[in-house]
Amino acid sequence: MLKCKQITELASNSLDTSIPWLKRLQIKLHLMMCETCYQYIKQIKFIQNTISGIEKHQENIFLSVEAKKRIQAKLNQAKIL
Ligand SMILES: [Zn+2]
Repeated sequence: MLKCKQITELASNSLDTSIPWLKRLQIKLHLMMCETCYQYIKQIKFIQNTISGIEKHQENIFLSVEAKKRIQAKLNQAKIL
């Protein structure tokens, strides 16, 4: 049976690369028995999903020339104060 440290390392690696099915099975069995690791993995997945959501959202942000000028003007005003 794998220990918690091994599980968290394997699970973290599994987010970036695929791991063999036996390791995935070992992770799942461990997570069924260990609430601490389950919560850790849950948080890692939440952070990964949040970051990928932000990255996707940033690709869809387009500012008009007028909006950029307004932002630049406000930034210039802030420098004066
Ligand atoms: Zn554990």
